[in-house]
Amino acid sequence: MIQDTIAAISTAVGEGGIAVIRVSGPDAVDACARYFRSKSNIAEADSHTVHYGHIVDPRSGETVEEILLTVMRGPRSFTAEDVVELSTHGGVVAVKRVLELLLRAGEIRLAEPGEFTKRAFLNGRIDLTQAEAVIDLIRSKSDRAFSVALKQSEGTLSKKVKALRHGLIELLAHIEVNIDYPEHDVESMTNAYIRERCGDACGEIDRLLKTAAEGKILREGIVTAIVGRPNVGKSSLLNALVQENKAIVTDIPGTTRDVIEEYMTLGGIPLRLLDTAGIRETADVVERIGVERSRTALEEADLILLVLNASEPLHPGDRELMEQLSGRPVVVLLNKTDLPAKLDASEVESRFPADAVVRMSVLNEQGLDELEGVIKRMFFGGELESADLTYVSNVRHIALLNQARQSLVDAIDATESGIPIDIVQIDVRTAWEQLGEMIGDSVAESLIDQIFSQFCLGK
Ligand code: GDP
Ligand code: ZN
Repeated sequence: MIQDTIAAISTAVGEGGIAVIRVSGPDAVDACARYFRSKSNIAEADSHTVHYGHIVDPRSGETVEEILLTVMRGPRSFTAEDVVELSTHGGVVAVKRVLELLLRAGEIRLAEPGEFTKRAFLNGRIDLTQAEAVIDLIRSKSDRAFSVALKQSEGTLSKKVKALRHGLIELLAHIEVNIDYPEHDVESMTNAYIRERCGDACGEIDRLLKTAAEGKILREGIVTAIVGRPNVGKSSLLNALVQENKAIVTDIPGTTRDVIEEYMTLGGIPLRLLDTAGIRETADVVERIGVERSRTALEEADLILLVLNASEPLHPGDRELMEQLSGRPVVVLLNKTDLPAKLDASEVESRFPADAVVRMSVLNEQGLDELEGVIKRMFFGGELESADLTYVSNVRHIALLNQARQSLVDAIDATESGIPIDIVQIDVRTAWEQLGEMIGDSVAESLIDQIFSQFCLGK
C-alpha cells in the first residue's frame, strides 16, 4: 500500500502564465488545507472543485502566493489517490516558494521523476502501455509524436492487444473443450481451424508491427542533413525551421533550447537535424569546411536536403555534390527563387526525380509547404497518419509482438506436422501471455478461470 503523500511541480519550469504543483496521496487534501486561506474549507470540499485563495506560511502568517486550488478525490483522479493541484503564478520563484512551504513540515515529500504515473499504474488506473505512453508524452520531441503518444495513452494500442488476446482465449477455450470433453458432441476442433485463427492473429500483429517503422520515425525524427555550398541558404533554412518550432516546443516539459535546435518539426514531421553547429558555422568560418562537414553528415542521414542557389548558374561544387548524392534520399531545394533565375533546373531534374526538386525562397518563406509534402510522400506514402493513429513505437512492445507472432507461427507449424493438440495449445497460450505482458497482466491470471468465466460449455 502507498502511504505517503508526494508533490512536484508538474508544469515546465520557466516562463509561462501559470505553474501547477500536483500533490497526491492520502494526506493531500488535509496537508494543503493547513496552508490555504480561503472562503471555502477544502478539507470538506467535493471532488473536482476549484477554490480561490492564498497560500499562507503558518509560522509567520505571511501570504506567499495567490492561487487556484483544485481538489480531486480518488479514485477519480490521475493517480487514483486524493490529488490537489495548486495553480500559482508562472515563473520559477512563486512556484518554488509554494512547493518549499508544502514540503517543509515533512508530511509531504518531493515526488521522484515519473512517480505520479507509477502510482496511477500501481493503483490500476492505467495499464503498462498507457504508463509508457505518458513517459513518451513527456519526452516527445514533436507535436506529431505528442499526439501519437496521447492516443496511445488513451489506450488504443491496449484495446487492440486486448482484442487479440480475446481471440486467442476463445481459441484456447475451443482447444480445451476438445481435450477435456471429447465425449461431448462439441464441434470438433480441427487443425485447420487452429491454423485459420492463428493466421488471423498473425495478420493483425503484422499490421501493428508495420506501424513500428513510422512510429520510430515519429518518435525519433527523420535523421536529416542539410547540405550545399556556402552561401546557398542552409543557415537561413535552419533558422526558418527553428523559428517555427520555438513556439511549439516551449510548452513541452523537459525540452531545452539545444533540443529545439536538433529536433524540430515541419508541419508535424519530426526532423532530427545533423550537425546544426556546422551549418551555423559555415557563414563565418572558412567556407570550404562547410562542404567537407556535409560529406560526413550525409552518410548517416535518412533524408538529405541539398540546397542550391537558383540565382546562380550551377557551380562545379554543386555538380560534385549531386554526383555524390545520386541514389540517396535527396530533396533538392532550388533556393532564392525570389531573385532572377540563372540555374538550369533541367540539369538538376535530369539527375533527380522531378518531384524531389522543390523551388523555394527561404527569404520569402516560400516552398516549405511543398517540402513538407515531398517528405510525407517519401516517408509515409503521402499519408502521415495510420488511419487511427495507433503506432507501435516502444521497443518493448515491438519485441513482445514479434515473440507472440513467433509463438503463433510455431502453433501453425505444429498443426501441420501432426503434433498433438495439447502441445499446440502451449504455443497459443504462450502467445496469449506474451501479448499480456504488453499491457502488464498475464502470468498470474489463471487461464482456466478466464476460459470458464467467459464461455458457457453447455451451449
Ligand atoms: P549558407 O552559407 O548556405 O548557410 O547560407 P546562408 O543561410 O548564410 O545565406 C547566405 C545569404 O543568402 C544570406 O545573405 C541570406 O540572407 C541569403 N539568402 C538565403 N536565402 C535566401 C533567399 O531565399 N532569397 C534571397 N534573396 N536570399 C537568401
Ligand atoms: Zn550557413
